Amino acid sequence: MLAQTAPSATDPLRILADVFGYAAFRGAQAEIVDHVIGGGDALVLMPTGGGKSLCYQVPAIARHRAGAGVALVVSPLIALMHDQVGALEEAGVHAAFLNSSLDGRDAERVERELTSGRLVLLYAAPERIASPRFLAQLDSLHARGLLSLFAIDEAHCVSQWGHDFREDYLNLDVLHTRYPGVPRVALTATADALTRADIVERLQLEDARVFISSFDRPNIRYAVVEKDNARAQLLRFIGDEHEGDAGIVYCQSRKKVDETAAWLNAEGIPALAYHAGLDADVRRRHQDRFLREEGIVMVATIAFGMGIDKPDVRFVAHLDLPKNIEAYYQETGRAGRDGLAADAWMAYGLADVVNQRRMIDESPAGEEFKRGQRAKLDALLALAEAHDCRRVRLLAYFGEPSTPCKPHQNACDNCLQPPATWDATEAARMALSGVYRFHQHSGKRFGAGHLIDVLRGKATEKVSQNGHQGLSTFGIGAGIAEPEWRAVLRQLIALGHLRAEGEYNTLELTETSREVLRGGVPILLRRPSATAGRGSRGVRR
Ligand code: ADP
Ligand code: ZN
Repeated sequence: MLAQTAPSATDPLRILADVFGYAAFRGAQAEIVDHVIGGGDALVLMPTGGGKSLCYQVPAIARHRAGAGVALVVSPLIALMHDQVGALEEAGVHAAFLNSSLDGRDAERVERELTSGRLVLLYAAPERIASPRFLAQLDSLHARGLLSLFAIDEAHCVSQWGHDFREDYLNLDVLHTRYPGVPRVALTATADALTRADIVERLQLEDARVFISSFDRPNIRYAVVEKDNARAQLLRFIGDEHEGDAGIVYCQSRKKVDETAAWLNAEGIPALAYHAGLDADVRRRHQDRFLREEGIVMVATIAFGMGIDKPDVRFVAHLDLPKNIEAYYQETGRAGRDGLAADAWMAYGLADVVNQRRMIDESPAGEEFKRGQRAKLDALLALAEAHDCRRVRLLAYFGEPSTPCKPHQNACDNCLQPPATWDATEAARMALSGVYRFHQHSGKRFGAGHLIDVLRGKATEKVSQNGHQGLSTFGIGAGIAEPEWRAVLRQLIALGHLRAEGEYNTLELTETSREVLRGGVPILLRRPSATAGRGSRGVRR
């Protein structure tokens, strides 16, 4: 590096204070910044809101002041590029972006700034990196020693296991093969072991130092309630605990988003809808109102959220099960970014399990991919069904050992009020025998509702039509109430010991059913309680 300026001008703490107005680095930031300024590669795993941006912005400024030229930041988020470039320019740091939102003339202007070497940071969409024209510009900068740093934001997009896979990320290894001496920092808030390994391999980051921050969000209270009447449960949750607060409600389908938003409004809760089926300007308007006004509830599909930085979101509610734990963590992570108490609340039921399983089964993806998706879903289902600390389970998924919620944390539902459990091993055997007897009797399959009627010995029309009162399983489970039966079936499907198939979700045994029938799989369930529908505090305030 050329020392053209006074040493203090490249001092990270000075830059932090003078440019960004902050007094101190947070967590691992200082170490990361030093490492990258020194020319090392880094893989930064930090939860959303942890402060990843400064990890490359401060080194970019320091290295530029030392004469090392421009830092290239690869990001898939156009809105985030706009915001960050605006904020940097405001702070007197020369920055620009190249993405599909620029017209030809503006893009040329940015390219001129780039080749001049005056830019401190250039944000670019990943597809740029594949363009020969753009690479030629980087070549020219590199030849003049004016490529200071590569930052690869949202690095999990390179992993096909993740929910945000982007084809263009696969090309980013060119940055290393073509410019091996330029330091790289890859950043992500998604960090399960599989994704992490993928990032290292595909971006050739074997020599990078890995910085893992704790993924714990101590101010978030995690709670899962059994779905009974999800809308009413949501209304009670908001009414009891979040009157007047800003929040996000995630639903799976556009239709449900529209309906839920309309219904909340009718119930006196100001709500807006957001999904990919709405016009771009409606979406923008809704997003702006959510960011600017107070106490708006955004009802949305997963199309909403990436790059949304609203600090005072007081709750994130899921009316449908997310795809996997990373998605759950990302989505719930949008709550409480200001560090104050916030809720992650989810209503979950049998239909969620069946739907998610079916979406995987029916997707056109290959078998191996589906296996991966199923394993990820299973982990989420285990979290939803858990009767011990949800925080511990969540962090364990990201490879982080922890202990159950402590008083200074916003304790999860299970820690706050340990649920009663019951040994459902015998009931699980009865249920699977019930499915087996149906098949043996007529070769036909039936759904959960009918199975429960048979097990409980209810003489319905369907029972007599099929002659099912004559089965040896008829009435063997009369002593177990219907909600408990539903929990047993949900758990069996969640664990893969039972499968719901076809248009009517008829039940079928799986490869592992036999083991349960033998009694070799102990099954402990949370007892559905009268308070199941209540908010996360378990009692009304
Ligand atoms: P991430 O990209 O990890 O989600 P950001 O980089 O957007 O997080 O940072 C989240 C918020 O925290 C921003 O408002 C940022 O200005 C603030 N922040 C980051 N680092 C610091 C720090 N050292 N001191 C004070 N505020 C910080
Ligand atoms: Zn807990």
